[in-house]
Amino acid sequence: MTGNVNGVEVMVPREVPLGGPRAMQVRRTLPQRHRALIGAWCFLDHYGPDDVADTGGMVVPPHPHTGLQTVSWLFTGEIEHRDSAGHHAMVRPGEVNLMTAGRGISHSEVSPATTRTLHGAQLWVALPDADRHTDPGFVHHAPTAVTAPGVEARVFLGSLLGDTSPVPTYTPLLGAELLLDPGATIALDVDVTFEHGVLVDTGVLGVAGAEAKPHDLAYVPTGRDTLTLTAYDEPVRLLLLGGPPFGESIVMWWNIVARTHEEVVAWRDEWQAQITDAGLVDGRFGIPVGDELPPIPAPPLPNVRLKERR
Ligand code: MN
Repeated sequence: MTGNVNGVEVMVPREVPLGGPRAMQVRRTLPQRHRALIGAWCFLDHYGPDDVADTGGMVVPPHPHTGLQTVSWLFTGEIEHRDSAGHHAMVRPGEVNLMTAGRGISHSEVSPATTRTLHGAQLWVALPDADRHTDPGFVHHAPTAVTAPGVEARVFLGSLLGDTSPVPTYTPLLGAELLLDPGATIALDVDVTFEHGVLVDTGVLGVAGAEAKPHDLAYVPTGRDTLTLTAYDEPVRLLLLGGPPFGESIVMWWNIVARTHEEVVAWRDEWQAQITDAGLVDGRFGIPVGDELPPIPAPPLPNVRLKERR
């Protein structure tokens, strides 16, 4: 946390290697030690713009997920997605790909050779207890840009600026890319019951009086029906996230969102049992369609019980 102005907390990212041949680095702003969730948003990786010639691009072989949804959003480049629910799709700039893990899915994400620059974000949404064992699934949506004075927005989840995404969610959520003109100040009508996160991609942004630099995540608590954003000398690109406080404790480890340590241990074991000398075999997490990369084994569990966070 770098500051707190008018209740707005500005959080800075930490650099994390994603894996792949030359270990592409991502900037992780969620979870933070003191803040696990913003609404149901529980994970936020932001990366690039990266020259793929330097980083090797994105190469994430098959790995499992449970109890969450992944939301992929790109600014530049493409990612090829394959999952065990039978979906093979491209992630493209300005188009959201939402994958529901539910009780279990496995997928791979690889940037194709035609992608020279990779720039985007990967986010996770925790599923509420009532829905977390749902069937795995996948939805794609290309929002039409909506404009207001000084701003252009692409609303990929929830409602903003009169536009509503058709993508269904299990808890109320907001997810949108906003482009602000230099010098613009916009007052967005937002849901007073939502807390919000503002991830700055490019430019310096005023968030309800606090200042967020590129790559920062500004947290705005509930209780506001207007969110004021200000661009200074340069245009600003940002992701605006929101939702009502999640209200449930979660245990999050590796690619798993659970409720207890025991669930994590059991699901980790189920994934490990799918990895055999003959390759990935079927099980809770299935087998991604048409994937030939060797699966990623789960890392060892820590020697301590995993802690609940809320
Ligand atoms: Mn994944």
